[in-house]
Amino acid sequence: MDTDEIRRQLEYFRDLGFQQIYRREASARVETRQDIPAVSVFIEEPKLELPPLAPANDTLPIIQQDIGDCKRCRLHEKRNKIVFGSGNPQARLVLVGEGPGADEDESGLPFVGRAGQLLTQMIDGTAKKEGIAITRPDVYICNVVKCRPPENRTPEPDEMAICGQFLFRQLTTIQPKAILALGSTAAKAILGGKDGVTKLRGKWHTWHNIPLMVTYHPSYLLRPYNQNAKREAWEDLKAVLHRVYD
Ligand code: URA
Repeated sequence: MDTDEIRRQLEYFRDLGFQQIYRREASARVETRQDIPAVSVFIEEPKLELPPLAPANDTLPIIQQDIGDCKRCRLHEKRNKIVFGSGNPQARLVLVGEGPGADEDESGLPFVGRAGQLLTQMIDGTAKKEGIAITRPDVYICNVVKCRPPENRTPEPDEMAICGQFLFRQLTTIQPKAILALGSTAAKAILGGKDGVTKLRGKWHTWHNIPLMVTYHPSYLLRPYNQNAKREAWEDLKAVLHRVYD
């Protein structure tokens, strides 16, 4: 395995939510018992075969089928519908939220509640103002977790790690020209760090060679005292739209 492959494998584990990986010696040394003449036996390490970030020939319907009637984490217990994602499967831009709310859980579609309406207005309004001929159905929208967390709480790290594998497959399959992470939870889940929106927004990051911008979650923008954030979110979206569609 060359260093590039090792780096890719490590990034894959990080994307699945692993924080630490312990490295063994290249070959395991097995000591013999004291009373047996001192010989050391070296056992060849089995070759480490890890799955790729997305299986070959992956498609959105295959990913959705793999999710199935998912019961991989506790979020399934109270969910009504799994919210897989919606929009153009060949979108040049993918927006990623945190997880479904009540309206999304009811309908099975992402961002259809109040925050979703604001998001639609932001996409359609900014594109129109900037002379970019797209509307919401031209992009793809999904979430880190596909089931509604009870009382809209933030998803737990294990829930994000389990569901994150499907998000990463969605992103890998779509291969957009850019990703827009909505809020700190989406940013942390994708980029793997601890920083929140304030630190991350306004500049470009990358996820597996795909440019990624972080901006405020539309729910945060709905609060009347966040007018400044609203202006900044519009700036972020404008930069993303121009990068993708110019
Ligand atoms: N908030 C999210 O993060 N996602 C949705 O789909 C709706 C609200």
